[in-house]
Amino acid sequence: MLNSSGIDAYLVEKKFISSNAIELCYRAEQTIRYLPGQFYSVRFTCNKQDCSRSYSVVNKQLSSLNNYEFSFVITLVEGGKASQYFSTTELGSCVTLSGPYGNLVLPKVNPKRYIMVATGAGVAPYRSMIPELTQRLNSNEDLEIVVLMGARTKEELLYADEFIDWANSNTRVKYLTLQSRDQKTEISEPTGYVQSLLPSLELDPQSDMAYVCGNPQMVDQVVKLLEEKGFPVSSVKREKYLFSAF
Ligand SMILES: Cc1cc2nc3c(=O)[nH]c(=O)nc-3n(C[C@H](O)[C@H](O)[C@H](O)COP(=O)(O)OP(=O)(O)OC[C@H]3O[C@@H](n4cnc5c(N)ncnc54)[C@H](O)[C@@H]3O)c2cc1C
Repeated sequence: MLNSSGIDAYLVEKKFISSNAIELCYRAEQTIRYLPGQFYSVRFTCNKQDCSRSYSVVNKQLSSLNNYEFSFVITLVEGGKASQYFSTTELGSCVTLSGPYGNLVLPKVNPKRYIMVATGAGVAPYRSMIPELTQRLNSNEDLEIVVLMGARTKEELLYADEFIDWANSNTRVKYLTLQSRDQKTEISEPTGYVQSLLPSLELDPQSDMAYVCGNPQMVDQVVKLLEEKGFPVSSVKREKYLFSAF
């Protein structure tokens, strides 16, 4: 067991959700509180060394009041300490959580439209927001939500089925995707970076609110584009998945 002042949690479920992404679920004996969109710092021991990395909550439930589980998704990177640890760790192993942290959360008052942009595992916060956003859609008939998701390949569009189902069951939810690599399939599909989908949205800095999460370069480019369009700072929330130097 790790010695710390955080919450000790034990691995209860682990599954690959794409060829390079694993979803892990840890359970604790005390409640794990969070607002959809927040993240936890996860401490683990790798090669006898204490390491810590941040991961967004991917849990999908309306309230965390009686929640004892923390689920997250890790995109594996070559040579990464956490990537190595989480791909080999077994059920029952222990990590220590501290948090929740982060301001990528929903505001009290809805904008007219949410625009949510992500790459890779950066879609995790939006997945955890689905129950709350669905409730808000039901109580506000003008509210619209657009999720823009980018990944290298179609297979790496994490949780795509869930977002497609959500969009199919609600006409005010749109889910648009773009992959950056040409996969040479029989039907030719457009490729590019997710930020290139933004101009098609008729952005309105007065009534849209933007969320941007994932690859730091993508986040910078999207934020720059939104600033140029006149979005006030308060209407753009971001979370960069910076990697640790340790
Ligand atoms: C607030 C916050 C939330 C985060 N949430 C998530 C999340 O939900 N899911 C998730 O997968 N990650 C998330 N991250 C990133 C995560 O904390 C780790 O940095 C990531 O898992 C890599 O850790 P590692 O130990 O495997 O690699 P490291 O040992 O940190 O890095 C090894 C090497 O791999 C390369 N590298 C590392 N990360 C990347 C990358 N993303 N792209 C390209 N090259 C890279 C670098 O060259 C680096 O030197 C988050 C980061 C922050 C700051």
